[in-house]
Amino acid sequence: MSELDARARIMDECDPLAGLRERFRIRDDLIYLDGNSLGCMPNATPARMQETLEAEWGEGLITSWLDADWAAAPQRIGDKIARLIGAHPGEVIAADSTSVNIFKALTAALSLRPDRSVILTETTNFPTDSYMMQGIEQFSGGRINARAVAPDAVLDAVDENTAAVLLTHVHYKSSSARDLAETTRRIQQSGAMVIWDLSHSTGALEIDLSGANADFAVGCGYKFLNGGPGAPAFIYVARRNQTAQPVLSGWFGHSKPFAFEEAYDPAPGVDRFLCGTPYVLGLAALEVGVDLMLEADMAQVRAKSLALGELLIAAMEPLCTKYGFALASPSDPAARGSHVGYAHENAYAMVQALREVDVIADFRTPEMIRFGLTPLTLRHCDIVEAVNRLDEVCAARSWDKPAYRTVASVT
Ligand SMILES: *Cc1c(COP(=O)(O)O)cnc(C)c1O
Repeated sequence: MSELDARARIMDECDPLAGLRERFRIRDDLIYLDGNSLGCMPNATPARMQETLEAEWGEGLITSWLDADWAAAPQRIGDKIARLIGAHPGEVIAADSTSVNIFKALTAALSLRPDRSVILTETTNFPTDSYMMQGIEQFSGGRINARAVAPDAVLDAVDENTAAVLLTHVHYKSSSARDLAETTRRIQQSGAMVIWDLSHSTGALEIDLSGANADFAVGCGYKFLNGGPGAPAFIYVARRNQTAQPVLSGWFGHSKPFAFEEAYDPAPGVDRFLCGTPYVLGLAALEVGVDLMLEADMAQVRAKSLALGELLIAAMEPLCTKYGFALASPSDPAARGSHVGYAHENAYAMVQALREVDVIADFRTPEMIRFGLTPLTLRHCDIVEAVNRLDEVCAARSWDKPAYRTVASVT
């Protein structure tokens, strides 16, 4: 047994979160390093879905809006997510996709800063964030200007005309993590609002939105929260910002949706950030994932994520020398999120070849292998074993096949 195998074994024995892994469906032998793209399925999810389908929809039909509490699911699950991100009850609602929630947050921030015209983000960000901004600029007919500057130039680019700055807490590719409180403070000094995209940090890092005095935040339900494919996302709106006028002024955000009034009158509180009918089936699965996440202590989750990262980096070191992988994430654990990326010119083919040996990682263009580190479902020994399998793939050059040269439409 190698020194790293022995180290991993000891770490698994002392792991306070070890018991959570068996609460998920994970096929034997599979090492899943992509839970930051689509989290694993909790064992409890199928039964919960079945109940929602058979008893609540099948039998209860429309009475389930109240009897099964469908109507309150966005708020109820939002309040649970609030506990994971340091928000207060009544500041988070589970609804729609992250992209749609980004739109809601940006337009709400603009409505609270009517005398400012710039919305700002960083280049290299996950593209949907920037795409949503570009759409707002186009629609505004020249009133709003969407700007993107290099990540380290963002703070200097904020000025008296900046209405809102949209930033990701943990970068989807590099995994570099911003200091949430300090960045918020610096941006707010110029009177701009801050919107945090927590897609790659909710359920992985300790987050204190209240402590940071954040204005808005959004995040995904299907990544570290294990809510299932296409799970509803969430939006956080600090209580002081809940007076913002919703642009997506749908009937579920109305103060009295079932009064069917002619005029739109936004609900008080975070409810106005709902738009249409809640996605009941998706919310049912999401709640199982969130409940499971709430069983874990977030400080332990973060500590394990960092330990998995350190182990991965140590195990990859010889492969960097032998095969030319280059660490593409911060080596300082405090500056890193919950995945680690490596650059290699054959990254795409290698990710395909790894699937044949039951290791799922993912590829991010142009040349990165991304290893997602999900503390609830991974053992330390999985990390060492995954790197052993990658070593074998590289030694045998089993990635070097014509079939692995064409990039698939979904990566
Ligand atoms: C995953 C991710 C999204 C996803 O947005 P959807 O609307 O759920 O597809 C958005 N932003 C970031 C930073 C992400 O990592």
